[in-house]
Amino acid sequence: MKRVLITGAAGFLGSHLCDKFIAEGYFVIGMDNLITGDLKNIEHLFKEKNFEFYHHDITKFVHVPGKLDYILHFASPASPIDYLKIPIQTLKVGSLGTHNLLGLARVKKARILIASTSEIYGDPLVHPQTEEYYGNVNTIGPRGVYDEAKRFQESITMAYHTFHGVETRILRIFNTYGPRMRLNDGRVIPAFIGQALRGEDLTVFGDGSQTRSFCYVDDQVEGIWKLLHSDYYLPVNIGNPDEITIKDFAEEIIKLTGTTQKIIYKDLPMNDPLQRQPDISKARAILGWEPKTGRADGMKITYDYFRSLSTEELAKEEH
Ligand code: NAD
Ligand code: UDP
Repeated sequence: MKRVLITGAAGFLGSHLCDKFIAEGYFVIGMDNLITGDLKNIEHLFKEKNFEFYHHDITKFVHVPGKLDYILHFASPASPIDYLKIPIQTLKVGSLGTHNLLGLARVKKARILIASTSEIYGDPLVHPQTEEYYGNVNTIGPRGVYDEAKRFQESITMAYHTFHGVETRILRIFNTYGPRMRLNDGRVIPAFIGQALRGEDLTVFGDGSQTRSFCYVDDQVEGIWKLLHSDYYLPVNIGNPDEITIKDFAEEIIKLTGTTQKIIYKDLPMNDPLQRQPDISKARAILGWEPKTGRADGMKITYDYFRSLSTEELAKEEH
């Protein structure tokens, strides 16, 4: 039986990956320190004989007994309000944490896939973003703690590949959404849906002309699966190229939820990227992957998930 270690297992993407690998017949070791994750995302797995959970901060030495075939390194705060609240931990998990996981991969002779991000392109001057674009990041801006940690993560991963022959995969994730996102994590989808459900106005930052391209979680998981099992070690963008302005997106959410609230405008956070759209030619050509779930279908499933949450959870403060 193949054994996989998934860091960030109690988070949004990590928990969906645990489900996928359990369903595919793997032995899954989930690791998380619960700083932004929640055990309720994986509690249904505790009855599985092929699932184990380690409560551990991966910036400290990581030890896992027995053989390991794969490591999926997903631990890191991922939403701007999270990494602004815990900037040092964000830098440490991307640097020290990644170093620990690469060391573990080397010792275990495991293949490691790291979760990088479209944020390494910063506020991009090339549109859509291809993997060849080097990016436009303000190192000392508020988002720098995340962006630079992820850029360092890619560099150290390539160094382990080149100098130690570790089998590495680098995944550049573009905005991904779905059930199990935290309602109060400040990312735009939980923010807008939470506001609609609480009967509050939807807060669009800036004039709402900035764009994002949203990928449904099942498509992302399929892309991760294919990249992990491919023999391609250079970075690959995985995301949905269907680009929309945040203002138009807010209007879509108003229609979806049937809220009678309106859009209100707040200041655009510093260095908020003005445009973002993945070029997925590489994923198409190398992995034979492309997203299958349109925004309307994905958002309906996501809305149903948030609607099913308790009123206490809905009432929690956002910031
Ligand atoms: P999330 O916050 O839901 O999950 C991250 C998990 O990592 C949490 O459970 C958290 O407790 C855990 N974690 C953080 N620091 C840790 C540490 N030091 N030790 C152990 N566990 C730790 O976020 P997510 O959206 O699931 O993101 C997962 C990964 O994917 C992150 O690396 C993120 O940078 C990357 N990513 C996500 C997106 C997206 O749109 N969701 C986009 C780009 C990149
Ligand atoms: N955003 C917004 N209102 C909110 C939350 C976010 O207008 O209540 C905007 C944010 O400024 C950004 C976009 O939505 O332009 C996506 O933000 P998110 O935090 O989801 O992701 P990221 O900026 O990391 O892509």
